[in-house]
Amino acid sequence: MSAQIIDGKEFAAKVRAQVATHVARLKEENGITPGLAVVLVGEDPASQVYVRSKGKMTVEVGMKSVEHRLEADTSEEDLLNLINKLNEDATIHGILVQLPLPGHMNEDLVINAIDPAKDVDGFHILNVGLLGTGQKSMVPCTPLGCLMMLREHLGPLAGKDAVIIGRSNIVGKPMAQLLLGDSCTVTICHSKTNDLKSVLQGADIVVAAVGRPEMVPGDWIKPGATVIDVGINRIERGGKNRLVGDVDFASASQVAGAITPVPGGVGPMTIACLLANTLTACCRANDIQEPAGLTP
Ligand code: NDP
Repeated sequence: MSAQIIDGKEFAAKVRAQVATHVARLKEENGITPGLAVVLVGEDPASQVYVRSKGKMTVEVGMKSVEHRLEADTSEEDLLNLINKLNEDATIHGILVQLPLPGHMNEDLVINAIDPAKDVDGFHILNVGLLGTGQKSMVPCTPLGCLMMLREHLGPLAGKDAVIIGRSNIVGKPMAQLLLGDSCTVTICHSKTNDLKSVLQGADIVVAAVGRPEMVPGDWIKPGATVIDVGINRIERGGKNRLVGDVDFASASQVAGAITPVPGGVGPMTIACLLANTLTACCRANDIQEPAGLTP
């Protein structure tokens, strides 16, 4: 294997330590404890695991963690009432509604009911617009984590050719805005892209966010490229359940200059960035200077 492994687990631990230091300072100097509220509707097993792990890490960095678990048949009105209460609660600086929501709820309506200043997922339409126009916003956690890893690994990104595979609102599109903000030349690919292989062969940076196990083989990657694999796919191999990315790690790591593993790459950075966003929201709400390095 020739590629350097970008260790998201180790980097995320550093980000969390940085957040914890600032949280301790906020408590001591300003008497403020950042608070994150996570709302889970229904009993989706994967969502339950995410919510538990978010709550645990929130407490570990010294923040207040509040969890609201609602029944799957909760009405949209009751959920909106809860969001209003959290919007008005001065001890809560970040609100995250775990997606997906049950089918009878309108996700856009629910997300846009969150106070944009507390929208630590960065999905509110106002934050999407602010990011798209290069203004200060709350930035979606997964692309923010990818950007941090790219900057850490490559230094300034200006002039690099970046190809993003996937155009979702939560990963692909905000990732493109962030890389454009860092003056990359950005191409976004999707399921209707003709000849993905030839597009990828010009890419200095590849961000794969598709949800198809190991769909990008090594011979699609430009030698020396930096590969960020966002995909999380559960497969069965050799009679065992395994997590794999959207990139075929075995072949891509022979060609790439650097690559994130799955698991242990983008995943841990996403939660670290959620904590960073909660700290940022708390600083902004209290007119306190934001810590450097935790926002684009
Ligand atoms: P979506 O399903 O919302 O989007 C997938 C995108 O991939 C779409 O734009 C789709 O194109 C595109 N696509 C599908 N098939 C192909 C193909 N054959 N060639 C090129 N593009 C294709 O997924 P998400 O963005 O929500 O998530 C992507 C992956 O990232 C998933 O595995 C998810 O689990 C993972 N993820 C990981 C996170 C983490 O913390 N590590 C956080 C969030 C997501 P089209 O628009 O044309 O349909």
